[in-house]
Amino acid sequence: MKNPFLSDFNTPYNTIPFDKISIEHYLPAIEEGIKKGLLEIDAIVNNIDKPNFSNTIEVLEKVGALIEIVSMTFSNLNLAETSKEMQTLAKVLSPKLSDYANDIILNVALYYRIEIVYSQKDDLTLNAEQMMLLEKTFKGFVRNGSKLNDIQKVTLRKIDKDLAQLSLSFSENVLAENNAYQLVITNSSDLSGLPEGIIEAAKIMAAEKGKENAWVFTLDFPSYGPFMMYSDNRNLKEQIFKAYGSKAFKNNEFDNQNILKQIAVFRHDRAVLLGFKSHADFVLEERMAESPTKVFSFLENMLDSALPFAMLELEELKEYIKINGGPIDIKKWDISYYSEKLKKEKFAIDDELLRPYFKLENVVNGVFETAQKLYGLSFVQRPDIPIYHKDVIAYEVKNLDGEFLAVLYADFFPRAGKRQGAWMTSFVNQKIENGINIRPHISIVCNFTKPTDSKPSLLTFNEVTTLFHEFGHALHGICANGRYGSLTGTSVYWDFVELPSQILENWCYEKECLDLFAKHYQTGETIPTDYIQKIVSSSNFHSGLATIRQVGLAILDMAWHSKDPKDIKSIKDFEVNVTSKTDLLSLVSETCTSCSFSHIFPGGYSSGYYSYKWAEVIDADAFEAFKEKGIFNKVVAESFYENILSKGGSEHPTILYKRFRGRDADPNALLRRSGLLTKK
Ligand SMILES: [Zn+2]
Repeated sequence: MKNPFLSDFNTPYNTIPFDKISIEHYLPAIEEGIKKGLLEIDAIVNNIDKPNFSNTIEVLEKVGALIEIVSMTFSNLNLAETSKEMQTLAKVLSPKLSDYANDIILNVALYYRIEIVYSQKDDLTLNAEQMMLLEKTFKGFVRNGSKLNDIQKVTLRKIDKDLAQLSLSFSENVLAENNAYQLVITNSSDLSGLPEGIIEAAKIMAAEKGKENAWVFTLDFPSYGPFMMYSDNRNLKEQIFKAYGSKAFKNNEFDNQNILKQIAVFRHDRAVLLGFKSHADFVLEERMAESPTKVFSFLENMLDSALPFAMLELEELKEYIKINGGPIDIKKWDISYYSEKLKKEKFAIDDELLRPYFKLENVVNGVFETAQKLYGLSFVQRPDIPIYHKDVIAYEVKNLDGEFLAVLYADFFPRAGKRQGAWMTSFVNQKIENGINIRPHISIVCNFTKPTDSKPSLLTFNEVTTLFHEFGHALHGICANGRYGSLTGTSVYWDFVELPSQILENWCYEKECLDLFAKHYQTGETIPTDYIQKIVSSSNFHSGLATIRQVGLAILDMAWHSKDPKDIKSIKDFEVNVTSKTDLLSLVSETCTSCSFSHIFPGGYSSGYYSYKWAEVIDADAFEAFKEKGIFNKVVAESFYENILSKGGSEHPTILYKRFRGRDADPNALLRRSGLLTKK
């Protein structure tokens, strides 16, 4: 049989022929793709014409079409529908793909042509989108060392190699420490306070580990989080809290103190070599926030506002604990437990009460109707489009004029082989090529509550906001309308990418929107107004404490990356020092956040943790524009579509945002929404 990647797809909208693809097709297709891609690069380099925007930058943008579709298909399925064979293959493909990427980025002759075009950029009369492509292409090379001399290049490669090794060690240590610990309970009285489902899961975990008549809790969040929130046993909470916080901080073979310091030092050296003051300066060059100074003042402003509220919340909590006969000297391992109790008492609303109003099919119709009312989109199921698993539903998306916009795949339920969590991704990005607007194929993947024989899938409110969130990302893809695939859809600066997703969550808190779809699955009754009020008011419960926790982590991240870290002696002292303002409870000497801060050390979130709050500010401010005129106001929606959803990363996000809002985002918008603004 022919390799489907190397033949015509012959499917509706040229969708991926999942039904014809099997595992043995990937490797030959990738190898063919690499061969083709490198030949395409040779053709650019060997072009005897003088380098210009179209024969160099635009042609480079088109390089590797085959490899793109194969590798996107593979990596998407490796997350959503993996197997042992897929994971083994990933290890074969990954070095091939990174060699291919290196062959391009280290190609001196290619860089030489790009540099020539870039040096003429002011005389080229490029439009904003073309200019962005030129800037992005040029910087992509420079930020990987193309401008350096040969000796410096060797140094850079060495640093990159060392960093890759250190990052790997960091992750392996965290994983080893994570797996080394388990809390084994053999006395059922120690389960007091825990919900039935959590106890059941702990029983299954014990059986998996070969322990009879026992319950096992681990440091994985689905096990650890609920234990901290519900267990009545304070001693056990202290024990598991300390185990969680001391990961890779025990001066044993899995200790990360030296490793993380080396990572920070190498990052700093790398940035300096490339001409930046610090790693944070290097990272933020390609972020909406632009500079460490801006990020720090953003965080400090947020802290100043949230801190007084956090203190009040803590006082109230202490009072509550006292009245209820709890400990006087409250510790970090008490917070989650008592907060949850206080929240329940204040709002008397829980998931089980709300679930009947959130049948999955109703919520999906609700989010579609929201998109219809805002942007005129319509969604029709297309059973003839191939899918990669029987649970996946394929839709065709059209605009108000009935024009085809996108294919949308929805994959809602957990199964073996699917990663946890929820995400949006794409199989085909939107672009315009040879005058043809190639429309995108977008996917949302979730792990929602499954239907049973007696009940349909009934979502928690959190799952409802998750669906709106991922669907918001999907809209960014669906509505994309740019020329260059690398700049369309969600290909935007990192601290801007959550705007379309987070803003859509706001509709879940609005009666006008909930009334459309939140109907009892048995009686058809619309969700009661007082439930909606409780959802809204409980959403801001302890927002002061939550805000300073996030700000504290962001400050820690920035502290590690905005200065030369060579002189830092003690990791713990450094951490205690920089988080002194955000840490309101007494220190726990056994724990150290930095040692297992996987977001920022091995992960790609270095100098980026602030983005969570940053994006919330923008989405809160953008949603106020809707609130001012009505949440389904056509004029505001059209402007959001035109200036944000369709534009991708074709221009700097600050410019795009200003065009939508008429001004920069108001930093107080988030504080207002979270109830953290003192009236002056
Ligand atoms: Zn998101």
